[in-house]
Amino acid sequence: MTEETKNATHFGEDVFGDEAIRTYLSKETAKKLQATIQEGKPLDPSIAGEVAHGIRHWAMDRGATHYTHWFLPMTGSTAEKHDSFLEIKDGEPIMQFSGKNLIVGEPDASSFPSGGIRSTFEARGYTAWDPTSPAFIKRHSNGATLCIPTAFCAYTGEALDKKTPLLRSMQALDRSVKKLMRLFARPDAHVGCTLGAEQEYFLIDKEYWKKRPDLVLTGRTLFGAPSAKGQQLEDHYFGTIPDRVLSFMNDVERELWKLGIPAKTRHNEVAPAQFELAPQFEELNLASDHNMIVMDTLRNVAEKHGLKCLLHEKPYAGVNGSGKHNNWSVAYGGRNLLDPGSDPHENAVFLTMLVAVIEAVDKHADLLRASVAGAGNDHRLGANEAPPAVISIYVGDQLAEVLDALESGGTRSRASVKTMKVGVDTLPTIPKDATDRNRTSPFAFTGNKFEFRAPGSSVCCSGPMTVLNTIVAEAVDRIAGELEASGTAGKAKPGEHTAAFHEALQNILQSSLKAHKRVVFNGNGYEAEWPREAANRGLSNAPDTPSALAALADADNAALFEKYGVMTKRELASRHEIFLEEYAKKVRIEGECARDIASELILPAVKAEYLETAQACEAANSVGVASGTAAFREELVELGTGLDTLKAGIAKLDDALLRSNSADTLAAMQALRTAADSLERKVAASRWPLPKYRDMLFIY
Ligand code: ADP
Ligand code: MG
Repeated sequence: MTEETKNATHFGEDVFGDEAIRTYLSKETAKKLQATIQEGKPLDPSIAGEVAHGIRHWAMDRGATHYTHWFLPMTGSTAEKHDSFLEIKDGEPIMQFSGKNLIVGEPDASSFPSGGIRSTFEARGYTAWDPTSPAFIKRHSNGATLCIPTAFCAYTGEALDKKTPLLRSMQALDRSVKKLMRLFARPDAHVGCTLGAEQEYFLIDKEYWKKRPDLVLTGRTLFGAPSAKGQQLEDHYFGTIPDRVLSFMNDVERELWKLGIPAKTRHNEVAPAQFELAPQFEELNLASDHNMIVMDTLRNVAEKHGLKCLLHEKPYAGVNGSGKHNNWSVAYGGRNLLDPGSDPHENAVFLTMLVAVIEAVDKHADLLRASVAGAGNDHRLGANEAPPAVISIYVGDQLAEVLDALESGGTRSRASVKTMKVGVDTLPTIPKDATDRNRTSPFAFTGNKFEFRAPGSSVCCSGPMTVLNTIVAEAVDRIAGELEASGTAGKAKPGEHTAAFHEALQNILQSSLKAHKRVVFNGNGYEAEWPREAANRGLSNAPDTPSALAALADADNAALFEKYGVMTKRELASRHEIFLEEYAKKVRIEGECARDIASELILPAVKAEYLETAQACEAANSVGVASGTAAFREELVELGTGLDTLKAGIAKLDDALLRSNSADTLAAMQALRTAADSLERKVAASRWPLPKYRDMLFIY
């Protein structure tokens, strides 16, 4: 890093990265640690003591007094349990941090959901350092803590977190890609998986937020009549960033840079008060951890600016929700395999990977859908401004022609792409931008990577990325297996493959495309026609979380995860149970919150308005004024009818809650909201107990 960059960004200052490793560790230990990090191996216990010593000194030089193993339990957020470096030895206080403290932790974290893997009376969970994600310093207003990113497992070795399966899925992909690359006679190299996670979020003034129990408890507004102005004018997207927001963004980025997170892009999003932060892509595991820190930082820094950052997928009805576009790719020896490349040999690898992804997504669309399921995202997917709940792939017209030509045996005269013989023809130049203008697809090829757009803004990237890695690992493994079985790979040098090899590959890709091209859809995913066509194509469409999660209970899917060493049957089953329970609990919290707001805040306001109107009407009558009384009467009827509907709505919601029925709860909440929102327009603004959309969305 140049001095200039360092001074301007303080980049990586709070990360135990290369520079800190060189400064705080002996040359020999530093070398061993670097190798461990690069190979993604567990830490060599013989150097753990010195590494721990070095990390502690580095952390203490930055004001840290405590350390924590930082992990990703199944709750979807991050977890930390702090211990101080302070220890009393022979009656003397000393600062200490041992190799053992660094390598494993034993938080008595028995209250995290384990989906039956672990009962509280059984073994504890333990955390183990993941050296591929460097230790970092987390600061608060009067101190700092050393955070060590860890995996969280039961004593049986079963994963209790979101990181372990991700790491395993990366290994699975590594094995498959290496197998394929050997057939292409590429020298052994590192398989890298990359992720760039674009993060959307809303900001709201904290004073409004405090007055909205629904936002406080559930993250989204359960009531609220639309604002006259919403996003109709499309004037917010890429608009001038208001000063208060820009100051907030600046602070966020400064924090992130210090933590070595390459925050790159910031802009206004489509909905009013909606924004985006995109970092530059990094190795998947690191990028996934970094996204968790991004979300934390957005929330923390907002507080300092008198704001609240809303990461819910749908904080407001009627305007766009928030997603987290996962840009994903695979590299081999630093070369992006999803980059079409310039010569026929590179193209052959690219096409193989492309077809593998298409095959994977078609075969396992149900798993991808399940990986983005959640109570929040249900309000976003398929809501006409987000990718539909049907999983399809967009590849762009040009690539679609190439695939057509490939599938039809290498020749095709209709399209601009005349022939596509693997290993013989070069691909036409695929302009990166032209491939990316379809915003309606949940899974789009964007020039040199895939962009999975269905994940919701609050989701931990690990889930969707674990699925994607696993299903692509399977497809690559299958294709490589067939290619190997064709016996044509021989002992060729790179780029010297025989015609027989290319023909075998072409045949394999052709039959895969024939079987799986139904998942390719280049049209407008927002059109009402698409779900119907998708159904005709036999594509699945799980409209809500419970139906989407069914994929996790499928025996074939369990076998897939087990085969590739990503999750055992029990680990998958536990996730199914945890996610279902989380969904039911979230819906229940929303239902109870909606009932409480309706009965404790909205109903009294409407009653007061009714009473005041009745009194005014009476007063007018008593002094014998006729004018106005007709209006009063009309208002009384409207308010009275509204009150009746509200009251009945509350009873209906109560009943659904009593029966613990999620679908009925959601329906009753919606009906109650409709009644309340229409009353909002009939009650004096000064009396309405909740901040209004027009205020929350425009004044921040
Ligand atoms: P857009 O909003 O047009 O989709 P952005 O620039 O906001 O584009 O985000 C694109 C994201 O994709 C960035 O995080 C970028 O670093 C990432 N990206 C670019 N190339 C790759 C790649 N090879 N692998 C993974 N992510 C990538
Ligand atoms: Mg973007």
